[in-house]
This record gives sequence, C-alpha cells and structure tokens, in this order.
Amino acid sequence: MKCTLITGGSRGIGRAICIKMAALGYHILINYKTNNDEAEKTLSLIERAGGTAELLQFDVADREQIHAILGKWITGNTENYIEVLVNNAGITDDSLMAWMADEQWDSVLKTNLDSFFYVTRLVLNSMLSRKYGRIVNVVSLSGLKGLAGQTNYSAAKAGVIGATKALAQEVGRQGITVNALAPGFIKTDMTADLNEKELNAFIPVKRFGLPEEVAYAAAFLASPEAAYITGQVLSVNGGLYS
Ligand code: NAP
Repeated sequence: MKCTLITGGSRGIGRAICIKMAALGYHILINYKTNNDEAEKTLSLIERAGGTAELLQFDVADREQIHAILGKWITGNTENYIEVLVNNAGITDDSLMAWMADEQWDSVLKTNLDSFFYVTRLVLNSMLSRKYGRIVNVVSLSGLKGLAGQTNYSAAKAGVIGATKALAQEVGRQGITVNALAPGFIKTDMTADLNEKELNAFIPVKRFGLPEEVAYAAAFLASPEAAYITGQVLSVNGGLYS
C-alpha cells in the first residue's frame, strides 16, 4: 500500500490534495485538528470515488500528540510507509506587530513551522531506509514577499522555505525530494473574510485560485517523475508578483 499523509486534510487545500492523491492510487492518512465532520466528509468523498483513506487526528502544533498518534501509526504499520508527506496544516492570526500578542506569535509559529520539523522528522526515517520519498510543504506568498499584518505568518512560512531548501540538500542522494508550494489567494475558509472583488484587481488572472488548482501542483511535485526537482518553491498564485 502506497501511503500519503496530508496534514490539515479536513478542509480547503488539504482536502483537495487528499482527493487528488487518492485518485492517483495512494492510501490517504487524513490529519486534522478538531473538525471531525469535515474530516469524515473528506474520507467519504475519497471512498465514494473508489479510493481508500483513514483519519489520523492530532494537533500538528503539539509534539507530544505527533509522537503519540503519528508515531503509533508508523510503528504499527511496518509493512507500509508514508512515501508522500504533505505538510499543509496552517493557521493565520493577523495583527500589526506593535499589537501582536505573545499567543498570536507562538501559535502561528508552532502550527506552521514547528509542525514541519516534528512531523517530517518522524516520517523521514522510513523514507530514508526505503530510499524514496516526496515531501511537499505548503507555504505562502506571504513567506516569500512578507505581508503587513502577518509578521508571525510570514516568518513561519519563510522558515519552512529555508528548511525545505536545507533538507532537500540533506536527503537528495536518498531519493527523497523536498519542495514547497506557495499559494496566493485560494478560495477556502482561511480567505472567506477577504474582499475578493477588491483583491482580484491585483491578481493578473483576476480571480482567486481553487483548492484543486493547488492540489494539481502538489500531485506534480509528489509524482515519481518529479525526481529531479528538489529544494524549489512553486508559486500557485495567478501571476501575483512574488
Ligand atoms: P483552511 O481551509 O483554514 O483549513 C485548514 C486545515 O488545517 C484544516 O484541515 C484544519 O483542521 C487544519 N489545521 C489547522 N491547525 C491544525 C493543527 N494545529 N493540527 C492539525 N490540523 C490543523 O486552510 P487552507 O486555506 O486550506 O490552507 C491550507 C494551507 O495553505 C495552510 O498552510 C495555509 O497557510 C496555506 N495557504 C493558504 C492560502 C489561501 O489563500 N487559502 C494561501 C497561502 C497559503 P480542522 O478542520 O480540524 O480545523
């Protein structure tokens, strides 16, 4: 069984990646934090299309939970291994820096950046011993150019971009690629409160992107054929300057 773990697979971009990877024949581990109903919906969408998946609930900001739940899955499934990891779970908690609370900084850094380290380190061992793996980190335009009101989020995503480039150099010879995907404005719960009409004016293709359009890029980077692409950041942003 070829397995893919997608963090934050219950909604938005993560759900679209789950569905796409399942259609490509992967057994999907759908991670999420609290939203059981939406995670079940992702699971049933996959199963209705003839794929297989299971739920793996843990908080990516909590390293104890990562070790307890993901660690248990890995030790209990020695026949199978996670050959594709998509670090997608993320949150924003915006504020101008002068007014940003410690909690806003800490939670955004833990969820978007620390999660990359704790989840990936755990999954990496079996990729290294099998000499094959695909790691795709969902970052953001914000991590490339910085956005006012998002010092926490921009720092976290820029941190993941740096880690992507460093890890790609560490594991390249073991058949493992590590790349980042940088979405612009994508229609999900995360962007539901934004003024889409106003923002469209700045986007060359004049619209927000769809989760499925990000999923297509994720599947490309996760494909066996993308073996010579590593340490890269692929923007999916409708042509916004980054
Ligand atoms: P979303 O619709 O808000 O969905 C977030 C997903 O992440 C949900 O599945 C949520 O699980 C999960 N999640 C959040 N915190 C978690 C935690 N601590 N542990 C485990 N899972 C957690 O977000 P999205 O728009 O799809 O964003 C997905 C990724 O793309 C994020 O990394 C985001 O930063 C990035 N991104 C998005 C956009 C955009 O325009 N939408 C642009 C650039 C980058 P629950 O359902 O359980 O809450």
